[in-house]
Amino acid sequence: MNHPNPEELELLALGRMAPAKRASIKRHLGRCARCAKSFQETKDYVAAMQAALRKLQDRSNG
Ligand SMILES: [Zn+2]
Repeated sequence: MNHPNPEELELLALGRMAPAKRASIKRHLGRCARCAKSFQETKDYVAAMQAALRKLQDRSNG
């Protein structure tokens, strides 16, 4: 089985992954518990990062 690497999971979490590749990685995540778990962690990390960025932007705008 070909596991997606952390960079690919990050692109997917950011919504920047090419559609063709996204479909195959999502299929993999449906079958591979290990990658599904790392993707969940990547999504949490990306969400935390985006929230922190938003906070910084609010501060510079206000
Ligand atoms: Zn996997």
